[in-house]
Order: sequence, then structure tokens, then C-alpha cells
Amino acid sequence: MAIRLYRNNSFQRTFTATVSEVTEHQGRPALALDQTAFYPTAGGQPHDTGTLNDMTVIEVVERKDGEILHVLAQPAPALGVGRPVNGEIGWARRFDHMQQHSGQHVLSQAFVVVANLDTVAVHISADDCTLDLPTPKLSAEQAAAAEAEANRIIYANLPFVIYEVSDADLPRIPLRRPPKVTGQIRIVEVKDYDWSACGGTHVSHTGQIGLIKITAVEKRGNETRVTFRCGGRAMRHYNLVNGVASRIANDFKVAVTDLEGTIGKLRDDARSQYKQLAETQEKLLAYEAEAWVRHAPICQTDVGEVKWVCRLIDRDPAQLRNMAKAIVAHSGAVAVLACVTDKTSLCFARAADVKADARVLLKNALAALDPNARGGGSADFAQGGCAGNDAGRVQTVLENIRFSA
Ligand SMILES: [Zn+2]
Repeated sequence: MAIRLYRNNSFQRTFTATVSEVTEHQGRPALALDQTAFYPTAGGQPHDTGTLNDMTVIEVVERKDGEILHVLAQPAPALGVGRPVNGEIGWARRFDHMQQHSGQHVLSQAFVVVANLDTVAVHISADDCTLDLPTPKLSAEQAAAAEAEANRIIYANLPFVIYEVSDADLPRIPLRRPPKVTGQIRIVEVKDYDWSACGGTHVSHTGQIGLIKITAVEKRGNETRVTFRCGGRAMRHYNLVNGVASRIANDFKVAVTDLEGTIGKLRDDARSQYKQLAETQEKLLAYEAEAWVRHAPICQTDVGEVKWVCRLIDRDPAQLRNMAKAIVAHSGAVAVLACVTDKTSLCFARAADVKADARVLLKNALAALDPNARGGGSADFAQGGCAGNDAGRVQTVLENIRFSA
């Protein structure tokens, strides 16, 4: 079984080892070594990448029997059992993981200190990190207090101290969470601040975490998910957010600190203008409907004399409905309207004093247009439609439509 060099020195970037097994992992070539500085995915911390001689290590996994497998991008016929290898860890990725993972230890303990909340799950993804807290209610003040507490520990530059204890000695260690393993337990202590049973890689002092920034707090059922970024990730996130804010502020020619007020006013203005526009459109619609009714032919129908407003109009289906309602607000009016967009929409209505059934009109029109057309409604207002957008055909159907069944 490989000696895990990263346990004694998480800053070791290169090492030499001997191949102990040539195998496969999920169809890809993989090597086991007598010792390794490569960290395999475990405990919420992602695996390292790097090289073995000139071969690229794309993944590192811990097999069920505890052996560490270095998964290679390509087969390595020259690397047989007993052959020596030079390993090199992809350092930017590893150090990023060390910052995030160490920062998580500190932030988890900060939530215990300020809110008495234990972390129940953690995750480090490629872009951000999360920890879950066993409460549906985490106030903005609590999150801010935990963030301030965590950064206080960074400024104090406390050492990470790592040692092993036996089960028997465990009760004297004030662990944040009970260990998942038995026997010799590896303790990772942020000196006199936090004690965790952990097999991961950590920075040597809290100052190397650089910065801990909470970027989102989200309720998830009975828990709260806290998204955070440490060190280089926090810096990149700051650059992103600051860049967006600065560009918008430049665009509006105001200071970043005045952006909220500027955008708030813009939003209020837009809402007010939208309301005015809607009111104006409604008035215009009423005028238009009134004019159409005034100029409509008086038709003798099965249900007597009506003002027959029959039009193919250049509007969307929602406006079609509003127009029909505005027309039948006039005594004696019948609205026979259609619009053609990517499909055909029909809307038929009648004034309250017209003793007719709009559904009959609709049924006749739909039957003439398309056997698959659908529609329905009530005696005074019916609407429907079908696929197809042949405006000439729709116009002809409208002109020939009658009340008779
Ligand atoms: Zn750890």
C-alpha cells in the first residue's frame, strides 16, 4: 500500500517512487506506486493532477482496498512494475484545493462560534465551495459575523498542527464532528481554535488561506447552503464582480457606490412609463373599437340586426382578445376577429344584447379552416386557433362566416 507523502508534507510538489502495480480504472490505464504525493478524491477535496515521468495524470482515486490509483491520459508501456518514476503535482490546482479546504475548516468553526451551527456537509467544486448548516434560517447578520470571525482567524495566522491519536485518546480532543474512521485518527488542529479528524491537505498557517468570502446563502429545505470562496478564488470572484460593477457605473457615469440608487430610479421610471403606455394603448384600443363599430355594416342575421365587425387584424393573440372585448362593449355589436402570426388565432364575441352564440361562429370557422383546429368558450366570448398562417384563406373564411349551424 502506497505511503501517502502528502500527509506528512502537503507542500511536497515532487517525489520519486517505484511502480507497484499496472492496472486500469474504468477502462483507462492506471498505476499504483510504493509512495505518492498525489492526493486522491476524498473527504470533499478533489484529486490532484500532474505528471509521472512524461505521462499526464488526469485523475487520482482511492480503490476500495485503500490503494491509490494514478489514472493516466494514455497507456505507459515503459512503466512496468519495479520501474522508478518521478512524480510532479500540478501545483496551482493543489494549492487552490488547500486554500479552499483549509478555509472550510476555519469557516465551519466560525459558524460554531458565532451561531452554534455545526457543518453537516461540504463540497469543493471547480468554481466555488459550499457548506450546509442544519438550520432553515440563517440571517444575513449571522453569515456576516461568521465571515468576519473566519477572516479574524486568517489575520491571526494560526498554525495548522497535524498529529495522530488513538481511539482511547480521542475523548480529550474537542472535535467539531465525530470521526468516520477508527484506530489511529489523524487530527488537523487550527492551533487552539478548531479540531477535525481529516485526511486532506492543508496550508501551514491560516494566513495562507488569504481571504474567506461568503458569496451566497440559500435555504434548502431544513438546511442552509453557504457558498464561499477562499484565497485565489475569492480574488478572481472579486475581480469579476468589481469588473461588472465598474463597467456598469462607467456606462451610467456614476460612482459604483451610487449604482443602486441610479438603477433603482431607472427601474421605477421604466415601470411608470410601462403603466402609462398600457393606459394609452387601452384608450387607443377603445377609440379604434368605437370607430370600427361605427363603420361596421348592419347585417340581418338569424338573430336579427347586428353591427358586424369582421376583420383580420395585425395584432398578437392577447391584443385580439382585448379588441374583441372593446368592440362588444358597444350595443348590438358582434366581433369576428382573427390574427395570423406563426399560427392562426380567432376570437369571436357578441354584445350582451345580441341573442346569439359566439361558439357557433367559432365552430363554423374552425371547421372551414382546419379539421384539427381547437377552440371553445362561452356564448358571449369564444376563441380558438389552428396551425398555418395563410392570411388570404383566413380572410375568405371570415367573410363567409355566418351564425347558422
Ligand atoms: Zn481537512
